[in-house]
Amino acid sequence: MTLQEKDKKHVWHPFTQHFTAKEHLEIVSAKGIYLTDVDGEKYIDANSSWWVNTHGHGHPHIGEAINTQFSTMDHIVFAGVTHPKAVELADRITNLLPEHLEKVFFSDNGSTAIEIAMKMVIQYFYNRGEEKSKFLAMNGSYHGDTFGAMSVGQRGYFNKPFEPFFFAVDYIDFPTSENEQAILNQAEILFSSGEFAGLIIEPLVQGAAGMRMYSPVFLDKLTALAQKNDVLIIFDEVMTGFGRTGKLFAMDFCKNKPDLVALSKGLTAGVMALGLTVASDKIYEAFLSDDIGKALLHGHSFTANPIACAVACASLDLFEEKKTWENIDDIVTWNTSFAKELSQFENVENIRQQGTILAFEVKTGEGNSYFSDVKTKAYPFFLEKGILLRPLGNVIFVNPPYCITEEEYRQIKEAIVSFLKD
Ligand SMILES: *Cc1c(COP(=O)(O)O)cnc(C)c1O
Repeated sequence: MTLQEKDKKHVWHPFTQHFTAKEHLEIVSAKGIYLTDVDGEKYIDANSSWWVNTHGHGHPHIGEAINTQFSTMDHIVFAGVTHPKAVELADRITNLLPEHLEKVFFSDNGSTAIEIAMKMVIQYFYNRGEEKSKFLAMNGSYHGDTFGAMSVGQRGYFNKPFEPFFFAVDYIDFPTSENEQAILNQAEILFSSGEFAGLIIEPLVQGAAGMRMYSPVFLDKLTALAQKNDVLIIFDEVMTGFGRTGKLFAMDFCKNKPDLVALSKGLTAGVMALGLTVASDKIYEAFLSDDIGKALLHGHSFTANPIACAVACASLDLFEEKKTWENIDDIVTWNTSFAKELSQFENVENIRQQGTILAFEVKTGEGNSYFSDVKTKAYPFFLEKGILLRPLGNVIFVNPPYCITEEEYRQIKEAIVSFLKD
């Protein structure tokens, strides 16, 4: 049996309709920016392996951290026990975040980091005996695929069967120059009802909605309203964290900072499964009591896995290197000049950039749908050109690992240009 046949027999892939799915790309190795398939064909990893990879695949410094940690200590329980790499990571990450974000809760992925943030918000008010439990979220948002995360995400096609089980959430529209004031008015009315516990939002860039971008000025106005009404703010920086936006965190562009932030994806350079929920002291203190029931009674088997923590620390080492930020700045510059070039194309619209992420829509006349024809045509077209690039519907976007060279970026650019000319 071939690998493809065995895969078909036993593997259930994410976001895949197996009835119509074609053969899967068979990748056998990954190094730097390149993925290599079973036939030896190489592909540039233009979307950073589902937006997670930061420093390139197989980075020696990351590899060394894994080996060292494995031979020192692989995994231990994290209740009643602590270990050096978890503490180092908590210490270093809180030093990089705003001063009031001081307490780090560990989990395994972005969805769990979000679940935990929401549970912290709900229990914060519960512990204080206040009846506030509603969330405000934004249309088009994606916060993960567990129930709480789905509840605050965009409702519709992707999670229809589960909708009866979601809790009640209010939504504001995605901001544009026309509706910003109306959204803020709506948020102000909702918040002043006193029913809202939390505002949950992807700061500056909505990833899964198609890399939709909005300004920090708007976000500051929205978060100011939340703060005024004692509504706790969760920033979902699962995608925007670790340099993607051109700064370490999207919140570094904002005046108002959140009460909680969820981190994953780039946290471990895209190598290990780890999520962090970082909360303010104010939230943490609401859980302190003689009553065990007021503690956050939540945990995962692999909470603060030492190897994952060691990898996250090693990734932070790389973010301390000047070269990493020079690379990020280069990508930002290339994106900006490519954006200008793209604006010459008649079949391109809504070109947008936030740091290392560049996105645009291909005009189809059928609107922006995840199942758009553009995706079906573009994906194999780019593979043919040696580039792994997965559009979201008719949105084509580039968010490469930071180790990409100018020549490799040029290859992506030329492939996109030839797709558009086709
Ligand atoms: C990917 C993502 C998540 C979910 O993270 P998983 O690790 O896939 O569970 C949550 N929020 C945002 C903004 C994401 O991009």
